Amino acid sequence: MMFRCRAFATVRFHMDTFISYYVESSLPEKTVEAMEREVRRCELLFDRFSDSSEIARINANAGNYTEVSEETYRLVEEAVKLARDNGGYFDPTLGAVSDLWGFGSSPRIPSDGELSSAMEHVGYDRVSFLEKDGSFFVRAGEGQSLDLGGIAKGYALRLIREAAEKAGCRSAVISFGGNVILAGAGPEGRNTFSVGIRSPKEDSIAPALVLNLSGGVVSTSGSYERFFIENGVRYCHIIDPFSGSCAAGDLVSVSVVCGDPVEADCLSTALFVRGLDSALDALASGEATGVAIDSAGTIYVSPDLFDAVDPEGIAEGYRVEVIG
Ligand code: ADP
Ligand code: MG
Repeated sequence: MMFRCRAFATVRFHMDTFISYYVESSLPEKTVEAMEREVRRCELLFDRFSDSSEIARINANAGNYTEVSEETYRLVEEAVKLARDNGGYFDPTLGAVSDLWGFGSSPRIPSDGELSSAMEHVGYDRVSFLEKDGSFFVRAGEGQSLDLGGIAKGYALRLIREAAEKAGCRSAVISFGGNVILAGAGPEGRNTFSVGIRSPKEDSIAPALVLNLSGGVVSTSGSYERFFIENGVRYCHIIDPFSGSCAAGDLVSVSVVCGDPVEADCLSTALFVRGLDSALDALASGEATGVAIDSAGTIYVSPDLFDAVDPEGIAEGYRVEVIG
């Protein structure tokens, strides 16, 4: 028997941000339900403030090995590998520093003394792993606090994409706080997906730029997502692991296009930390594919995305420059 594909769209709230679902499948509500189950599971998995999460247990027992599920073990292992591959600009051991800045609760500028003592506990190479007789153990360095917030949404999207494939979705677009997966074919029988890159201007609902893509993942990190301004300086939720600082520079947002949601989530964060010049070098050299927006309204596009730019989709006040 053949089932007709139907479209279903809905928005939910998880991990302190919105997740929007667009799914075309034979039973789209059921497909979204399955995806929601994965997101809720991830929410518990990553929540380092909940006593029941394994990340919280690793942190409470820092300095010693903690037995965890294989999933948590592989995840922390992947996070450490991504940190190494990205020269430490992405670092999952920033927990003590994130706590000081308080982006989750009440943001404030920490004192130099507070920052330098928290920074002593940062270093992805101090996390150790042990696999023994089918059991899995992770040890954070003494005083360390793992914070996997930088890849939590990407990981949830990886599981969501698996759910989309399992359900045989004809098309699925799921956007989770600046990370979007494009699965199957384009919506409503189209060949491509139109993806808007958000405008950092607070008074604008139109995207800064629209890309027409045939699939994959787009992940954006920007200083307009979670921030506060003090004495004219903008502090955002992305931390420089080398200084502990949160001050945003000329780079307003960076979006990465790639095949894997976790890699994309990590890479956009790492490029954001590297700042405008270094992010542009990465985009120009082919190290990453994506788009960067600076505070003057220039949208820099990597050469391999030139054909994807929708000429009608460039918002007023922006200009596009292909680099490389
Ligand atoms: P964005 O998508 O804007 O990059 P994410 O929500 O993916 O933001 O990541 C930000 C979260 O990751 C922060 O709330 C913090 O928990 C953590 N984080 C901040 N800076 C870093 C960093 N340099 N490396 C790894 N994780 C970070
Ligand atoms: Mg990210």
